[in-house]
Parts: sequence; structure tokens; C-alpha cells
Amino acid sequence: MLDFLLTNAHIIDPVSGADFNGSLSVKEGKIDGLFPANNALPSAKEIIDAEGGILVPGFVDIHSHSENSVPCAEKLLAMGVTTAVSGNCGYSTSNFERFIAKFDKEGYPVNQLEQIGHSILRRMAGQNDINAPASNRQIEVMKRSAVDSFSLGACGLSFGLEYDPGASTEEIVELSKVAADTGRFISVHGRLLPTDDLDCLREALDLALLTGAPVIYSHLAYMHNGETLKEALKIISEYREKNAPVWVDSGMYTAFSTIAGSPGFDEEIFLNDESELKRLRAATGKYVGQVLDREKYIEMRSSSPHEHLIYDPGNPEDVFVAYSLPDVMVSTDCLEYPAGQGHPQGAATYPYFFRSLVKERQQLSLPEAVRRCTLLPAQVAGLDTKGRLSCGMDADLVVLDWENLREHAEFPDKGDPDAPPSGVKHVFVNGVLSIQNEKRVSGANAGFSIKR
Ligand SMILES: [Zn+2]
Repeated sequence: MLDFLLTNAHIIDPVSGADFNGSLSVKEGKIDGLFPANNALPSAKEIIDAEGGILVPGFVDIHSHSENSVPCAEKLLAMGVTTAVSGNCGYSTSNFERFIAKFDKEGYPVNQLEQIGHSILRRMAGQNDINAPASNRQIEVMKRSAVDSFSLGACGLSFGLEYDPGASTEEIVELSKVAADTGRFISVHGRLLPTDDLDCLREALDLALLTGAPVIYSHLAYMHNGETLKEALKIISEYREKNAPVWVDSGMYTAFSTIAGSPGFDEEIFLNDESELKRLRAATGKYVGQVLDREKYIEMRSSSPHEHLIYDPGNPEDVFVAYSLPDVMVSTDCLEYPAGQGHPQGAATYPYFFRSLVKERQQLSLPEAVRRCTLLPAQVAGLDTKGRLSCGMDADLVVLDWENLREHAEFPDKGDPDAPPSGVKHVFVNGVLSIQNEKRVSGANAGFSIKR
């Protein structure tokens, strides 16, 4: 007997290109059948009426930091994310055995993958100086730790080169070769060199040519702006024309948030250029929402380097330029902040993506927009049963109320960064109803770790 039938849906499957009205059946956490309207339906224990909503695979967030935060994972779920890839920007768990056991014992709001982070590998090898390269001996230790992490289920290798500016080309390439040899992808948060410098992009993309491993260039619209972004798109296209396996993810904002102590918020830039200082707002802490003056900047850098700052380069239109590149995947870069503080990306990204790029600007068709949130990131992450609506696939499903779909989260100076979206009506994780009529189903933690 089927677990449930989801009826009266507008079904979009990014694999087949199917776009039809009908029903979908689920049995034991898997999609069991698809039925065009007017076909006879099998009997099921439960019938859920989608009321004409758009039924798509659950979203796969290719760049998140949700792995240690139930509130963060629940915000993703409320947007329709059912699988999150974490361990990004060089930072991850160092103990995959314990990490995976915890997910599989307790469950989680979403399915969760984890990369091993390069910065963590450096610390494990005893390199605690972010400005120094790893020694040959440390590189050997890092390579062994990476192999161990992959054998325990790490899905990829992440770099956060902004945070470890001393990392040498040699250590980056040597570790990337280990990822390539074990069939893992690499994600790169580049060095934030002066923003008009694109060497940090080439350094990342070259890893694909040098090692053959798929490279994901992280959060594109956070990395480059204006003319430099356009130049970046040309460079990425050139690598792709050479058949280099390079991929890109981007959020929906140009204003990014990171810790006040980050080397990117360097005194030499921000104390010598008033216009740069004016771009900084506190994302968390006692000055939350405020534009920083010199005193507050100096205080946050020295006394609260772990609080977050938002840097706003302007150019919000650049997001749409970034998505003009074929195959840019949608990502949140979500992170846990204190309630009511932080960046709205973790609660707004997906509904904002659909509202702006599909509904209002018509820059992407609905099936193409769905593909960029589902099938494409699933393929890049090597997930064969996610991001698809066909028989035998995992029943990670989202029903969207298209008319009402929109984000409500705002930057803390304008509103509530945690405000949930409207129009994400039902979300199923592995066949378990986890959001029902836009409300969290309490106790539904059907996600688990996905090992590669
Ligand atoms: Zn990052």
C-alpha cells in the first residue's frame, strides 16, 4: 500500500522536462509513481491535495553552513531545501565518524553532506599560523587526514583561502589531487585580493585543469562586482569551453557577512578609505544593524572579532548578472546567528530567487530555475537519488504556492533576518511531511547524513 498520494499538483521534473498536472505517489520514502490528471489513481493510506501548487524536487543547497545548527537547518527547510552541502569555506568537522553517527542517531531537519575543510586540515597538522604555508611534513599529514575523512564519508574538499592567506599553491594542489583521486569535488572560497584582481578566480579554476577534480567556485556574487564580475564570467566561460569541470554557485545578495576578525576586513583598507568603512554594517553584536564608524570598527576588530560584519559593495543588480552565466547554482551560504541578527540569506534565498528571476524579471524559465536548485547541484555533488522526480528517487518534495511565493527576511537594519517566506506550502524529506501549510511539523527530523 502506498504511503500517500499527492494530488492536484503542477509537476515539474528537471530530468525529463515533464511539466504537467497530475499526482505523485510515495512508498517507503521513495517516489513510486507519477500520474497525469484524469488517470486512474491507486489507493493510498493518505491523500494530500496540493491544491494546484507547483510540485518540484526538494532544493539542494550546494553551499551552506547548516551542519551544526538545527535553527539554520529549519530555516533552510522552510524555504524548501531538503539537502544541504556543508563544510564550506575551509571549515568543517574534524571528526567524521562522530559527526555522521550523530546525524544518523538523532535525525536532522534536512539531509546533510559535509566536506572536509582545508583550514581544519591545517590545524589538524599543527599549522596554526594563517599567514604561513604548510611545511612538507604538514602537507603529508593533511593528505592522510583528507584520505581518512573521505573514507569516512566526506563528500568533497573545501578551501577558504581568504581565511588562510598563507596557504601555498603546493599544499592547495597536493590536497586537490587527493580529492581528485578519490572522486571528490573541490569548493573554493577564493583569496579576497583587491576586488578588481581575478587571480583568485584563476587560482581556483586551475585546480580543475591540474587535477581533473570538479571545482565549485563559491558564492560568486559575494566575490566580484561590476566590471570585474563581467570579466569573471568571461574567464569562467573560457575554462568551460576548454571542458574544465568548473561550476559556480551564487546567493541572491552582493552584500556578504563574515567575521569581524577576517583578514579581508583589513585595517589598511578600512581605516584609510572612508568610503570603504561606510560599506560595513554590524550583522551581530551590540551594534547590530548600525553602519560602523572608525571607533566601532576598531572596537569590533579588536574586542569582538567573532561577531559578524556585513560588507555591502552596492551593485545589487550584479546578482542577476551572475545568474546570466549558464549553470550557476543557487546557494544560501547560511550560517547560524543569534535570533533576529545576521544575514537574511538563510531565510530568503530560494523564494527571492524564484520571485525575482522567474516571476518578475523572467530571466529564467520556471523549469530552468528549478533545475538550478535541484538536479544541477545534485549532479555536481554526485547525488543520484536527489533533485529528481522519477520513480525510485528519494521523496524529497516541495509544493509551492506560486502566487504567494516570496521572501520576507531582511537585513537587520531593515527588518527580521529570520522571517520565514510565504508560499512554500509543503515540504517532504525522505517522504516525511516536515513543513505542512507553511508550518514546521514538530518532531519531523527525517534527514540523515549522506556519505560519499
Ligand atoms: Zn565562503
